[in-house]
Amino acid sequence: MERVDITQYKDIWVFAEQRQGKITPVVIELLGEGRKLADVKGIKLNAILLGKDVENLAQELISYGAEKVYLADDELLENYTTDGYSKVIVDAIGQIKPEIVLVGATNIGRDLAPRIASRLNTGLTADCTKLEIDEEDGKIKQTRPAFGGNIMATIICPDNRPQMSTVRPGVMDKALKDETRTGEVVKLNIDLKESDIRTKVLEIVKSAHEKVSLTDANIIVSAGKGLGTPDGFELIKQLADKLGGVVGSSRAAVDAGWIDRSHQVGQTGVTVKPNVYIACGISGAIQHLAGMKDSDIIVAINKDADAPIFNVADYGIVGDLYKVIPEIIEAIDSVAK
Ligand SMILES: Cc1cc2nc3c(=O)[nH]c(=O)nc-3n(C[C@H](O)[C@H](O)[C@H](O)COP(=O)(O)OP(=O)(O)OC[C@H]3O[C@@H](n4cnc5c(N)ncnc54)[C@H](O)[C@@H]3O)c2cc1C
Repeated sequence: MERVDITQYKDIWVFAEQRQGKITPVVIELLGEGRKLADVKGIKLNAILLGKDVENLAQELISYGAEKVYLADDELLENYTTDGYSKVIVDAIGQIKPEIVLVGATNIGRDLAPRIASRLNTGLTADCTKLEIDEEDGKIKQTRPAFGGNIMATIICPDNRPQMSTVRPGVMDKALKDETRTGEVVKLNIDLKESDIRTKVLEIVKSAHEKVSLTDANIIVSAGKGLGTPDGFELIKQLADKLGGVVGSSRAAVDAGWIDRSHQVGQTGVTVKPNVYIACGISGAIQHLAGMKDSDIIVAINKDADAPIFNVADYGIVGDLYKVIPEIIEAIDSVAK
């Protein structure tokens, strides 16, 4: 395999995914994490932004800490296509040579990053949950859950560049916004023709499902198989509404068809870090814990005192959720009065 001169590669790039002119939330997390890594290495944190009429988003990226924004603004980039986006990014990486490229592990990011990595003959670690700089050699150590979450694998990319990771949404701390920050917008020369893009986007349809924003919620009331019946989610919703929170679930409840998959917390669902996570009738399987164990406060309600959820819970109530939750709701109401 062709060897690259790795000393030519500098700076961190964050792929600034946008949809319909809005920055995807994971980008703010990547800028938060990217800033820490860039500071440890003493290098720049930059972003690459693609789209049509998206120049206005560059300032937003700068206010979240990007020093330079490489902008590819073109009609052909209006909608995400694998061909169009990978060509433009591969060309830009070839010219400017970033050392590290971070991409959010969204549906788009998971599609895009492997294409880029294979065209550049470089390494990619998917769905990372932790990134660090090796103090000795300055390389990035990329950690991700493997084998169903039972093993955490730390992976390095020693000889090829850029070092690429997709990063799981909801895991990293968000960058803080500071509108006084200034930065540079660098317009990329784009060499892209319509015939380069084999996909034609006919229409973009928003899901008709009820929208749940678990990653943004401060309070999540989650329930699992312990509900016994799908109707149990009505009680969970009542408690969530009282607390101004949203409803989450275990995979077992999703698999049983009790609730839509968009509510699922865990390794194959969403990773969440709310201020308060209330787990009702959830046993606490490792794959569920993988998605919520970093919540600030965890409350568990379970009738089995030996359920593993109690190992991570800050507060635990051993009891039948159908007795406990109505009492909590009553207590909230009496305080509210
Ligand atoms: C590759 C892989 C990926 C996975 N990804 C995920 C994932 O993303 N998210 C996820 O959640 N799971 C995931 N799982 C499944 C996971 O292993 C568990 O099967 C699942 O989390 C169990 O869900 P549960 O806790 O709701 O159900 P159970 O394990 O059946 O637990 C039900 C709990 O409810 C309690 N209970 C019963 N009745 C009551 C009552 N009346 N009051 C109070 N408590 C009661 C019981 O004591 C028990 O602890 C994955 C599994 C694999 C193999």
